[in-house]
Formats: sequence, C-alpha cells, structure tokens
Amino acid sequence: MSSNKLKILVPVKRVIDYAIKPRINKQNTGIESKGVKFSINPFCDIALEESLKIREANKDLVESIHTVSIGPLKAQDVLRTTLAKGADKSTLIQIKDDEEVEPLQVGKILKSIIEKNDYNLIILGKQSIDDDSNQTGQILGGLLNWSQATNASKVKINTDNTVEVTREIDGGEDVLKSKLPLIITTDLRLNEPRYASLPNIMKAKKKPLEKLTPKDLGIEIENRLQILKIEEPPKRQAGIKVENVDQLVEKLKQVKAL
Ligand code: AMP
Repeated sequence: MSSNKLKILVPVKRVIDYAIKPRINKQNTGIESKGVKFSINPFCDIALEESLKIREANKDLVESIHTVSIGPLKAQDVLRTTLAKGADKSTLIQIKDDEEVEPLQVGKILKSIIEKNDYNLIILGKQSIDDDSNQTGQILGGLLNWSQATNASKVKINTDNTVEVTREIDGGEDVLKSKLPLIITTDLRLNEPRYASLPNIMKAKKKPLEKLTPKDLGIEIENRLQILKIEEPPKRQAGIKVENVDQLVEKLKQVKAL
C-alpha cells in the first residue's frame, strides 16, 4: 500500500426494489422489468453504510469512498443516492438497457478499475437479490489474488491497519484478521443503512459521476451462461384451521406426517 490510508471501492448494483413481487416475463426467460421500481441492491446499501461508518469511526483514515455500478444509464440514479449518502465519487460502467452482466464479467471490470485506481479495500454485497449469484466478491478475490472475508457481520479496523471481520456461521462466529488489500462481502446484520437527507440529495448533484463503457476499460462483455427457463414456484394449497389438538393429530395422521 502506497500510504496508510484506506481507498475504498463499493460496487453497487441496481435491482428491482426488494419490496416488489417480481413477475416472470411472457417468454419465461427473465423478470419483467417494464414499469417496475428499481433501487440499490440492499446488500450493496449495507456495504456503502459500512464504508461510511469506517470513515466516521476512524478519523483521517479514509482517503476516499468511491462507488461503481455496471448497468444501464438509469443505474445513475442509484449512484446519485450513494453520493447523497456520503460517497465522494461514482462511476457508471454503462451497458445496453437489455444487456445482462454475469459475475465473471463484473469481476473483470472491477479488477480493471481497482488496478487503475489503487484501491485497497473493496466492500461488496454478499449477493444481488435479482440473480442471487453470491459470486462476484469471491470471483474478484480470485482474479486479484487478494484475501477475502465473506458474509461479514462485523468489521473492525485495527490501528496497525489490519482488519478484523466477524462472520456468522452455523452455531457461532468466525473471526478473521487480514492485512490490506482486502475484499469484504456484507451480510444483512452488519448495519442499518442510513437515509439520504434532502439537502444531501441536492448537494450530491455536484459530486463527480463519471461515465465509461466496458470498452473504455478494454473489456468485451462475453456472457457464458444462457438462461433456458424461469418458472414460478408451484402454488401452495390453502391451509385449514383445526379446533383442537385431537383434530390436529388426526389431520397430521391423514397426511401421513405422524
Ligand atoms: P452477485 O455475485 O451478483 O450476487 O453480487 C454480489 C455483489 O457484487 C453485489 O452486492 C455488488 O456489490 C456486486 N455486483 C454484482 N453485480 C454488479 C453490478 N452490475 N455493478 C456493480 N456491482 C455489482
């Protein structure tokens, strides 16, 4: 690391809002996106919040917080929100409206941005709620040959610039310590993201939002996977109400659950 300061990159994805029930398109090949509300992927919002908290808790430690999104032009809205919440600068890597990028492509694009800008801490969401891949952080770790701490539920920066990451695992906690550079992916319980205030939303309009294409980074998007079919889960049958325990036992016997 050239200095002891943290240069943080937070990759954020624009996804269908978590509160919306997704509908499958007529061709059964994807989710209907027309007329649907989009927002920042919740795990990415947690990643941004953590970077802001690190800056607030460690005076003068953080040199910059940069957010980046690979998506259509409209992904700018998500980036503006990150600027309003406190990111210093954003980059949109613009792809076509109907284009999808797989985690490997995202990883290659992020690698190129990271190498050009000398970031030393990358905080990603553990997964995107649209494709549920849960791959990008791990792929990026492999491409860069960096340490990674996935599914973080607590992050602590030590005075010697090592980082301690707590991960919730079955039946306990796993606490890792690593030097920088490091990749962290965030779990749900890491923090509660803040809201952007109206004055900050106005101020964010003046913050830098750079637009590039994958080609500008020398990368051709080349997806390897083809979605053959997406199906709704089978409809669940309505339940029934029983009057007492005897009836419950009787019903359970009938369905051979006892
Ligand atoms: P995934 O591997 O797709 O489940 O995504 C995990 C994390 O990778 C997300 O929470 C983001 O931090 C990052 N990521 C995935 N896709 C993108 C994208 N198109 N643009 C920016 N970051 C992304």
